[in-house]
Amino acid sequence: MNDGKKYGFTTTILHSDRQKPIEHGSLHKPIHTAVAYGYRDVRELVDVFQGKKVGFRYGRQGNPTVTALEEKITRMEEGVSTLCFSTGMAAIGALVQALLRAGDHVVSSTFLFGNTNSLWQTVALQGMPVSFVDATDVANVERSLKPTTRIVFVETIANPRTQIADLARIGALCRERGILYVVDNTMTSPYLFRPKDVGASLVLNALTKSIGGHGNALGGSLTDTGLFDWSRYPNIAENFKRLAPAQCGMAQLRAKALRDFGGALGPEAAHHLAVGSETMALRIERESSTALALASMLSADARVAAVYYPGLPSHPQHAIAKQLFRAYGGLLSFELKEGFDCFDYLNRLKLAILASNLGDTRTLVIPVAHTIYHEMGQARRASMGIAESLIRVSVGIEDTDDLLDDFKQAFNS
Ligand SMILES: *Cc1c(COP(=O)(O)O)cnc(C)c1O
Repeated sequence: MNDGKKYGFTTTILHSDRQKPIEHGSLHKPIHTAVAYGYRDVRELVDVFQGKKVGFRYGRQGNPTVTALEEKITRMEEGVSTLCFSTGMAAIGALVQALLRAGDHVVSSTFLFGNTNSLWQTVALQGMPVSFVDATDVANVERSLKPTTRIVFVETIANPRTQIADLARIGALCRERGILYVVDNTMTSPYLFRPKDVGASLVLNALTKSIGGHGNALGGSLTDTGLFDWSRYPNIAENFKRLAPAQCGMAQLRAKALRDFGGALGPEAAHHLAVGSETMALRIERESSTALALASMLSADARVAAVYYPGLPSHPQHAIAKQLFRAYGGLLSFELKEGFDCFDYLNRLKLAILASNLGDTRTLVIPVAHTIYHEMGQARRASMGIAESLIRVSVGIEDTDDLLDDFKQAFNS
């Protein structure tokens, strides 16, 4: 594979472990459970500690099974390097722990995963103000920038209402102003979209979702795309500034967030996620085509008030989705017309499971306002465009006709 040829997405992921020899010719990277790594020569141990030599020392800072997964994700995102964390939220938390100081300002899309919304509220209370803006228009982002703005944070397709950020124009704005642009790529996944193409500095993936894909392991990652000039970032500590500018941001994230706060990904989870990632493209192709069929069926139904899916021509950012994404993904949401109870409808579904994950092989549904967005209250929900009857669907890989039949039969009481 080191023959210089540019292979396709799945070929690259499948064969990435073989770039380095694996014991016994094992086709999968083994699960290395050791916490510590021993050396024969103390000079070698010292060099690894001082970062002069690549190697492992203690499991919180790095593990061979996790490193193999990081290399896979770096290839998926065509980035420079990747750091894995115990969950997607731990990866977002790492941004705060390693890169923000008191008084720094963050601009975030208002259309956000619920726990990320909650995290930014906490960060604001800790002395780093956060402006929430409608990021579907770059003008709103630009208007909210301050001299102290350190991070602009957006999701590609926002969960659950599927708003799409003005990805390319925000990228151009951040590049012009030298601001770190963090794109949460969870809903698109690196198969559908590479945030590097729109100028992202760091790409965040909740590996728990489409990359792992089977609902059997939690994980998160941050990938450095190599586009950001870290020498312009004000919060790099002196000892990391001594490194090459291309490395200092990730080195600070590894030490100040992963090492000091300890949200390390375990080797067993890393193995599940790596194996799951091999079939990601196949799963997402199926999920995307079924989701488009389901969205079309629901929007033609007189009992449905609204359907939100980027693949529908009626979606406000359909043109951006069509231009930037390989397909439209497996997330959709919809509202029933008045007089149709969304709880009754959900209870009549036979295949779709009442559960809160995304990107599983099985189709999952949830009434958003009453569960994952319950804590924030009705006013904030309304500002995020979340109707009280909104149903979120994470489309799985079931046979398409079976799923369409299920959502159809559930209308008939
Ligand atoms: C699930 C999710 C996260 C958090 O990931 P966890 O692994 O559950 O912590 C972050 N962003 C988005 C868009 C998500 O869907």
